[in-house]
Amino acid sequence: MRPRDITIPDQRHPEKAHRPDNAQPKKPAWIRVRAPGGQGYQDTHRIIREHGLATVCEEAGCPNVGECWAHGHATMMIMGEICTRGCTFCNVATGRPDALDPFEPGRVAEAVARLGLRHVVITSVDRDDLDDGGAEHFAQTIRATRHRAPGTTIEVLTPDFLKCPASALETVVAAKPDVFNHNLETVPGLYPEVRPGARYFQSLRLLQRVKEIDPGMFTKSGIMVGLGEDRQAVLQVMDDLRAANVDFLTIGQYLQPTPKHHAVARFVTPEEFAAYEKAAYGKGFLMVSATPLTRSSYHAGEDFVRLRAAREQALASR
Ligand code: SF4
Repeated sequence: MRPRDITIPDQRHPEKAHRPDNAQPKKPAWIRVRAPGGQGYQDTHRIIREHGLATVCEEAGCPNVGECWAHGHATMMIMGEICTRGCTFCNVATGRPDALDPFEPGRVAEAVARLGLRHVVITSVDRDDLDDGGAEHFAQTIRATRHRAPGTTIEVLTPDFLKCPASALETVVAAKPDVFNHNLETVPGLYPEVRPGARYFQSLRLLQRVKEIDPGMFTKSGIMVGLGEDRQAVLQVMDDLRAANVDFLTIGQYLQPTPKHHAVARFVTPEEFAAYEKAAYGKGFLMVSATPLTRSSYHAGEDFVRLRAAREQALASR
């Protein structure tokens, strides 16, 4: 894919270095995670390394890595470890990415087979330097994984393909992932601060388009809370996602990776998460996961089985 001319922040001075330090508050008692270690974790680590792959589990500093990797559940991050966007919540480095590796789809497929995954989540950095945003590379990775691990269900967590031709999204959908996930990340009022390179309604429209192209494909989106949003804005996001026919919503607590990242405004209590979950089901989502440690890919395999069952039940009751 031909590289585009875009403005990318100076790599010698990472874009977040100029930001003021935000104190990192102590986590409340309800956010406790398993420390990484044990045989399962080591095995996952070895397979990922042997195949030269990146994972969002490590790049984003996910708190669930100890639990997920103990079960072999790693979320593959394709197209490099450098992102062309500078979202203030995200721990992935910003800069000028390397050229795409044409062998990466095959290595992802091989690793998925070695890990014996029933369900895999494949995500990527943003690639605004590519005309198609990396859509064809996503499609190749889906096809290679389908071929090498035919029993594995595939979930993609994609960028927004902002400024890409419509064919970019169509390319990914045509490769037939089982779940198409794209995260809104936060409420629209916080986009200028939290997700400055993105557009809320572009992301919503992307999810809506997936359903228009393939009505049978599951769609999924997620937000973080604790960034400074209010409850009413979260409820509005739910309405917007349902209007776009999104099936599955995830809501988790934002955790600040470093003092240079967006500050945690507050820790949302487990009771508030339970209330969000109830509200979301009331608005018609087939599946909702809303807990402090919920992440897009947390327990994604088990959730996919429940999602499929929920749709069958909904169809049967019509
Ligand atoms: S929740 Fe997702 S990103 Fe975090 S460790 Fe688990 S699989 Fe990786």
